[in-house]
Order: sequence, then C-alpha cells, then structure tokens
Amino acid sequence: MAAIALDGKEVARHIRAELTARVTRHVSQGGKRPGLAVVLVGSDPASEIYVRNKGKAARAVGMESLERRLPESSTTGEVLAVVEELNQNPAVHGILVQLPLPAGIDRERVIQAIHPAKDVDGLSPLSQGALMKRLPGLRPCTPSGVMDLIRYYDIPIQGQRAVVIGRSELVGLPQALLLLEANATVTVVHSKTSDVGGIVHEADIVVAAAGQPHLVRGDWIKPGATVIDVGIHRTEHGIIGDVVAEDVQDRAGYLSPVPGGVGPMTIAELLKNTWTAFAAVETVRA
Ligand code: NAD
Repeated sequence: MAAIALDGKEVARHIRAELTARVTRHVSQGGKRPGLAVVLVGSDPASEIYVRNKGKAARAVGMESLERRLPESSTTGEVLAVVEELNQNPAVHGILVQLPLPAGIDRERVIQAIHPAKDVDGLSPLSQGALMKRLPGLRPCTPSGVMDLIRYYDIPIQGQRAVVIGRSELVGLPQALLLLEANATVTVVHSKTSDVGGIVHEADIVVAAAGQPHLVRGDWIKPGATVIDVGIHRTEHGIIGDVVAEDVQDRAGYLSPVPGGVGPMTIAELLKNTWTAFAAVETVRA
C-alpha cells in the first residue's frame, strides 16, 4: 500500500488561516500589524525566490513585509549596519537574513547581530541555547515545521525511534532536540556515520536532511515508518528531495512529498515565529 502523503501545503494553509484571523482581529481592535524584514545580500536565484515568497506570505496573512537588498560586493560591516537599523525599527518584529550569504561575509557575526527578540529564524546562539535548555524562545522554522506536520497527522512521537539524517545547525541538530523534547528516542546520523541505511532501518520516524539527492532508498525504510524529506534539489526534471520517493512510498506509512511537504511548512513557521515575536512586545488579547 502506498504511503499517506503528508500534505505540507494543506497544513501550512491551516496555520496561515489561523494567523490571518489573529492579525485581522488585532488590527480591527486598533492594534499594529506585525512586521517581518527579510535581508537579501547578492542575487542568488534560489534565494531571490525564497525572499519573494516569504514577503508574499507575510502580506497574505496581513503582516507588513520589508525587504532590504544589498549587493554581492557588500562588506560584513554594511550588512551589520542594516541589521542594526532593523533591530531599532519598531515596525519590525522579525528579522531574517537569507542564507547562504556571499563568501566574503562573516555569517556568524551577522546572525549574532540580530536582536534575539526578533530572531525569527531561530539561529542565534541565544535561540539555539534556549532550545537546548527547553526555555521559551524562537525555534528554527524547518524543524518546527516538521514537528507540526507530524503532529497534524496524529503520528505518535513519544517513545518512538527517530533517526535524523544530518546535523546542521539549521535543520538536523535542532530537529533532533525537538524530537527529544517530544520524548522520541533519537539517533543522529551524518556524513561520517557508517551504515546509515542500517540505522535508518530501525526508525519509526526518519527525517532526511542530508542535502544529498536521492540518498534514502526504499530498502532502508522499516515498513510503516514515517519519512519526512527535508531535501530540496533543483534538477532538470524538477525539484527532488533526499528520498527516492517512488521506492520509499511503497514501504513507508507516511511520506512528505517534495515539493509540497516541508517547504510550505517552513514559511508558515516563519510567520508563526513573527507572530510570537510580535505578541511578546505588543499587547495582544487572547
Ligand atoms: P547542510 O549541508 O548544512 O547539512 C547536511 C548534513 O547532512 C550534514 O550534517 C552532513 O553531515 C549530513 N550528511 C551529508 N551527507 C550525508 C550522508 N551521505 N549520510 C548521512 N548524512 C549526511 O544542509 P542543511 O542546511 O541542513 O540542509 C539539508 C537539506 O535540506 C538541503 O537539501 C537543503 O536544501 C534542505 N533544506 C530545506 C528546507 C525546506 O524548507 N524544505 C529548509 C532548509 C534546508
């Protein structure tokens, strides 16, 4: 039997509808609109699309969207100056610096410059530390999207074996922490792990975030497992993920498609984080 598709577009639609209702209610009571600022340095074509989509998504739920574009030749200091201006801007509640940054820019300094209260990408040391300590804070969008996707379909997490493929600070590592927080038994595999397939085979939940097209094969998957494909790879045949979907869907119980799985969830979580950042500084009635 083919796996049930985890429809990220559908789940993201629900999240956006709820946010639209909250923003509309708040504004109708005389409140401000939440504001999301996206900083794009250079002109990477994929980043251009992401930035445009994020702005569009913010406006669609009634938020203000600001874009700051800087040339590829910018210095770290110039990017820091823009971040600082946005930190000070009271109309901006969330700041996202689109990654990757051009080679000459000190990415870590830029991320650390974002005010923690506006860090809607959840990548600053304070946000990541809060996640580790299980303190309230803004969580990275993609792994939060994966959690919401799993929960929407009522897939059990507690006590389940979860394997996360990848240990990046953007996806794999926070994903492992979020699954642990939800009481899964978590294993992280990475590029230096031997027998990745054998370990994946033990998993009830697999999150593939290796950035390797078609890494995860059908015979790796325990029958009935939930497989979340985070990978995004543009090929001449369209967008594909880290998972060989044609094979895995005959074994898995649930499978997130690419596109239309984790991608839309990531943007929805960014808007959720923007609302959370907004509600922390504005008086918002329940
Ligand atoms: P990354 O390159 O920073 O990290 C990849 C991780 O995978 C590393 O920890 C590495 O050790 C591990 N890895 C690499 N090859 C492996 C292998 N053969 N076996 C096991 N582990 C291996 O990438 P990232 O930023 O974490 O992104 C991962 C993928 O997710 C990329 O395809 C990226 O485009 C995609 N992504 C999608 C979204 C979304 O919204 N859907 C968001 C962020 C990233």
